[in-house]
Amino acid sequence: MLKKEHRRKIITFVLFAVLIVGIFYFRYDIAKRDYNADILIKNATILTLNEHSEIIYNGWIVIQGEKIIEVGKGKHDYKSKKIVDAKGKVVMPGLVNTHAHVAMAPFRGVDDGLNFSQWISNINKYEQVVTEEDVYWSSLLGEVEMIRSGTTTYNDMYFYTENIIQSIEKTGIRAVIDVPFDLENSDLKIEEDFLLKYDRISTVTFSIAPNPLIEFSEEKLKKIKKIVDENNLIVHLHIAEDWSERNRFVERYNRTPIEMLSDSGLFNSKIVLAHSVNFTDDEIDYLSEYKDVGISFNPKSNYKLLGYTAPIKRMIEKKLTIGIGTDGVGSSNSLDMFDQMNFIAFVSKGCQEEGSFCDDQSGIDPEKIIRMATIDGAESLGLENEIGSIEEGKKADLIFVDFSRIGLTPSYNIYSSLVYNTDGSDVTDSIINGKIIMENKKISRVDEIYIVKKVGDIFEKIKNLQ
Ligand SMILES: [Zn+2]
Repeated sequence: MLKKEHRRKIITFVLFAVLIVGIFYFRYDIAKRDYNADILIKNATILTLNEHSEIIYNGWIVIQGEKIIEVGKGKHDYKSKKIVDAKGKVVMPGLVNTHAHVAMAPFRGVDDGLNFSQWISNINKYEQVVTEEDVYWSSLLGEVEMIRSGTTTYNDMYFYTENIIQSIEKTGIRAVIDVPFDLENSDLKIEEDFLLKYDRISTVTFSIAPNPLIEFSEEKLKKIKKIVDENNLIVHLHIAEDWSERNRFVERYNRTPIEMLSDSGLFNSKIVLAHSVNFTDDEIDYLSEYKDVGISFNPKSNYKLLGYTAPIKRMIEKKLTIGIGTDGVGSSNSLDMFDQMNFIAFVSKGCQEEGSFCDDQSGIDPEKIIRMATIDGAESLGLENEIGSIEEGKKADLIFVDFSRIGLTPSYNIYSSLVYNTDGSDVTDSIINGKIIMENKKISRVDEIYIVKKVGDIFEKIKNLQ
């Protein structure tokens, strides 16, 4: 009898348990079917960087797949799988680094005291021992540094491109990568199927980088123009980084670099001009006539190697599209875009011409500096319809900046605080292409300690060459 009763109890218990689990599962399943968003960010101060630079207080952002599907405040009907509370944080578009050599990570701080020509000849020597594997690990280090400091897109120029793309797949960052091509080959073709091969990676687009520019005759530049048109690429150049460049071009081609590029038709393609330090007023006026020309302003790199920067105020006055670039860490020491913005804010207060009296100390407006680091930078790369602002239909590339810390208290103006008081370590979260890449300062996709160890091995190799 006892045994029978015991069995009945067990059966009743099991049936009850099945019923409870069933109810929960059914409710969960219904709830799951109700989800209409992948990520919902709430309680955020949102810097949209849209056309009117609208700021939304206590707002929300809804992400579905790779895109932002709605931005607003107050009530909404979204049910999201993931809810992120951004209280105390400013949510802004991810930063766009418009000129970098990310795999130069092991050259951080090497030969800090040298001038431009001494420095560049040393770097060329060190690069002789860099392997494909080194480029992979160095790119990972650089990309993690960028993600940690708020960059979600970078425009790169380097060699061993396929290893850089591998690192991009690993970290999930967005990048514009220069396609490899054989300069010695008179056809100047890019590798067959290269673009097709990487079409599957939605965070990678491509440029072509004729570098060093002095090696490209008008005939070669015209071939570059053809490749660009056929493959929908952008052009990425180093130009006007030192005064001697103009003379070297005139000696070799009887024309200035700007005249060469103009004659080859490249200003009618999307083209981003890194450095652009030594342009004359007439050249700036001329470039401002072309809507596809973008400037990558690299102030720290230029100041360190040359002692001055590009005539940025005149370029802004002439309404050129200007983004900000770090260049490699060999010259600028850091890939932190907030660091660059801070430098721009202070340096733009000073005189741009040696010995001139500074009667205008207003500097560049912080809101403009933030636009240069986001939407204007995106435009200089031809990506303004995809990224650079927080708007419906754009790719979900955004970062959180913690405004609750001592050094950001108080804040009279968000743009000003971001430019004058923020550094990369204030960035807590990063979403790229709709994926959470860094959450509460944790990047789960990579082993940072191992990356540091691998780049340490490359450092040992470089150190032996000094
Ligand atoms: Zn560069």
